[in-house]
Amino acid sequence: MTASLPFASVAELVDERLYVTQPHLPPLNEFLPYLEEIWSSKVLTNGGPFHQQLEKALCDYLGVKYLSLFANGTLALVTALQAHRITGEVITTPYSFVATAHSLLWNGIKPVFVDIDPKTLNLDPKRIEEAITPQTTAIMPVHCYGHPCDVEAIQKIADNYNLKVIYDAAHAFGVQTAAGSVLQHGDLSVLSFHATKVFNTFEGGAIVCPDAKTKQRIDHLKNFGFVDEVTVVAPGINGKMSEVNAAFGLLQLQYIDGALAARKRIDAIYRDMLDGVPGIRCVEDAGETAANFSYFPILVDSAFPLTRDELYQKFRDHEIMVRRYFYPLISDFPMYRGLPSAHRGNLPVASQASSSVLCLPIYPGLSDANIGRIVDIIKGC
Ligand SMILES: *Cc1c(COP(=O)(O)O)cnc(C)c1O
Repeated sequence: MTASLPFASVAELVDERLYVTQPHLPPLNEFLPYLEEIWSSKVLTNGGPFHQQLEKALCDYLGVKYLSLFANGTLALVTALQAHRITGEVITTPYSFVATAHSLLWNGIKPVFVDIDPKTLNLDPKRIEEAITPQTTAIMPVHCYGHPCDVEAIQKIADNYNLKVIYDAAHAFGVQTAAGSVLQHGDLSVLSFHATKVFNTFEGGAIVCPDAKTKQRIDHLKNFGFVDEVTVVAPGINGKMSEVNAAFGLLQLQYIDGALAARKRIDAIYRDMLDGVPGIRCVEDAGETAANFSYFPILVDSAFPLTRDELYQKFRDHEIMVRRYFYPLISDFPMYRGLPSAHRGNLPVASQASSSVLCLPIYPGLSDANIGRIVDIIKGC
């Protein structure tokens, strides 16, 4: 009896604990028929039927022409750079998940960090040109929090200097602007279907390609470079998505509209409740006509009674696991901080955002009572 007490209280505590996200999972019984099909066909991977169906279904859903599925977003980023034979220096943002820059190092490319726009927190096009050198071959921007980059300004610079543009679109599933899917811009866009993302296949990712020829090259690169049984055309990697993940993605896709609608509702409640709170700024949309509400970042400034880190700690004390996306900046990690472009003086806006941002929980199952709990902590400071 006494021995079970601590367990009971731990369970209660864990129940009460809120995370910044919670993966969407469809009813388990709906997944079983997919597994039965895999068991009977014995096709587990290598571009099987579920893989083909998911590629087609995602093209239709996202409004893009071609897409190649991957085991995860990071392998897709590494392969996207390979597909265009990117070398030398690539201009990128320090305000992102570390995989953005890691994909450059995996290709022996030198990242060149450029500061971000204070409103959108995306790569600032006005700062790109001064960072271009004779070694620059590409730009790798990120649609941070799913808010579109200034794709036109970036493309203009790329055209002027003959650079490729590879978007890290890991946050941008389903995001549309007046021109259609945000994933159509640049030379390639890379998605992540990691468990923490808006659309998840447990682990997964994809490269959105503009034409069949590029897709074919990418399909070779993700399968060791094999073209047929005896022909290998490149030192490709194993980046293939399995049939289990692809089947799961097909089922998830049936629920995505409901999940996005639930996120939209939570986003609106937060904005309404936090409106006018001194020292708290909610990051605005960046002109998307369809947003995905993948994150709910707030910026805590000096008008707020607590520092960002004090507020972060206060949330933790209440078992609310808010996250500081993106702190530290990528440019502050040991493998990057020696680069000239990693210098804090070069990145004042990113440094400021990184030290003031806090991402609040947002996911379809977040209850109104818990949203109230979260807002009360901020308002009670
Ligand atoms: C999640 C994420 C990645 C990596 O994707 P994985 O599927 O986890 O490998 C890359 N870039 C950004 C911006 C991300 O948020």
